[in-house]
Amino acid sequence: MNILDNILSGREKRSKLIEEYLNSYETVVSIKANMPGTEKNNYLAYLLINAFSFIVKSFPSVTYDYHQNDDGPFVLVLLNGFNSKSIKRQMISIEEHHELGRFIDLDVYDRYGTVTIRKQKRKCIICDNQASICIRNQNHTDVEIIDIIDKKVKIFYENNISQILNQSIMEELELDPKFGLVTPYTSGSHPDMNYELMIKAKEAIMPYLIEMFFETLKNLKEIDLIRNLQSIGKSAETAMFKATKGVNAYKGLIFNLGLIIASIGYKLSRYEKRTIFDISQSFAKQLFLNYDYSSESYGDKAFLEHSLKGIRGEALSGYSTVKIALRKLFDLSTHSKIQTLIFLIINSEDTSLYQRSGSFEKYLYIKKMFAELDLNNDREVLRINDYCIANNLSFGGSADLLVVTVLIKIFNDIYLFLE
Ligand SMILES: [Zn+2]
Repeated sequence: MNILDNILSGREKRSKLIEEYLNSYETVVSIKANMPGTEKNNYLAYLLINAFSFIVKSFPSVTYDYHQNDDGPFVLVLLNGFNSKSIKRQMISIEEHHELGRFIDLDVYDRYGTVTIRKQKRKCIICDNQASICIRNQNHTDVEIIDIIDKKVKIFYENNISQILNQSIMEELELDPKFGLVTPYTSGSHPDMNYELMIKAKEAIMPYLIEMFFETLKNLKEIDLIRNLQSIGKSAETAMFKATKGVNAYKGLIFNLGLIIASIGYKLSRYEKRTIFDISQSFAKQLFLNYDYSSESYGDKAFLEHSLKGIRGEALSGYSTVKIALRKLFDLSTHSKIQTLIFLIINSEDTSLYQRSGSFEKYLYIKKMFAELDLNNDREVLRINDYCIANNLSFGGSADLLVVTVLIKIFNDIYLFLE
């Protein structure tokens, strides 16, 4: 069979599947990219259907089915007890008003055939003509159309990711009290830093983290992708040090967010069964394949002397502590974030705490202190906060993981399929 036959056969399979579902469900909503040309499984098709995840999320505890064939990826939302006509009106409104609406097909199928699935007259992707006119007259080439889709999809994701990255970093930075870390009200145990400096560092690193997301869209071998991500990470570090005049504000964060953002980009842009945690683990393994723990750094000493693997271990475990922390982070309230931060302080291997503790015994003692802390006792929380600042303690590793946890929570609330 040639490509066109395969696409047609994919389309038929999709119709059959919808028909079958209509035996058990009254309404089926199909979400599928409106992709010209014969390459229906490019990253744009995946990014497009993921951009419309909010439709699935808008139905409480809904059943859905995610498929892929030669006609491209699609999501079927399976519904009982809804008014198909009103859903159809909503879908048309989304197609007409969403900034990517022209590139998506939102079809509604009804068991009783009461909903016409004939397309309303849609506008062309490029000009303001009716689509049918431009298609009939072949006004635009596929390359032209795909180019436009590419630009618009990238603008959409750039805005979305930059907003989520910014929010995740700010949710941590604004949190107070924070046991020696920088907040809007104190430099904590970091006399060389303050809130404004952290903001500058954040602004400096964000473009590189966004670049990492887009790097995953290229069809690279994992080993080449990792090498490119590393090099973007190095540029991010350079930009950060320039912005802070040499202060290490977010080096650990660049590593963690970079790995997670790349895993999310990888997941959202292709047919990928692994979770973002599995992907980050695989990336980390590749990254530390031949790692030699013999440098003079605190991280390496912590490993050689006390088997503390720090953030490297967390990444190699596929962010196993973050996975549990996500269940503690019910919402983005101060209480919930502090609870999650304390969970991370107790359960992750924070080599920046180890560095500041002076001894392994003290490191364990401080963790125990947090484990015994009554979070509902505000006075106790403030007392331990003062203790940490007086003893020059800090929890940079745990704070980075809090940002990662917040970021994944926000992504999870918007997108499907991440876990
Ligand atoms: Zn046109």
